[in-house]
Amino acid sequence: MEMPEVIPVCYCGNLAKLNMYWSNDNPGRRFFGCNKFGSRFQKPYQFFSWFDPPFTPRSRIMLLGLLKKVRTLEDAKRRERRT
Ligand SMILES: [Zn+2]
Repeated sequence: MEMPEVIPVCYCGNLAKLNMYWSNDNPGRRFFGCNKFGSRFQKPYQFFSWFDPPFTPRSRIMLLGLLKKVRTLEDAKRRERRT
């Protein structure tokens, strides 16, 4: 993973952390968030700044398709382990 040239500073004074967003709107899009909040973006008033440019509708659909495939495979694996 390439490193950002400039790391923004959070409202709390710490350097922001590069995280990955996993929602259907922005699958795998990276953003800067507060160091203290782990990998989960929680509330909109906390520090938040996108690192990756927005997805085009086409790439979004492609990513969602891939994500669905991965999840299906993971589910299948999990089911195998259980039985
Ligand atoms: Zn912070």
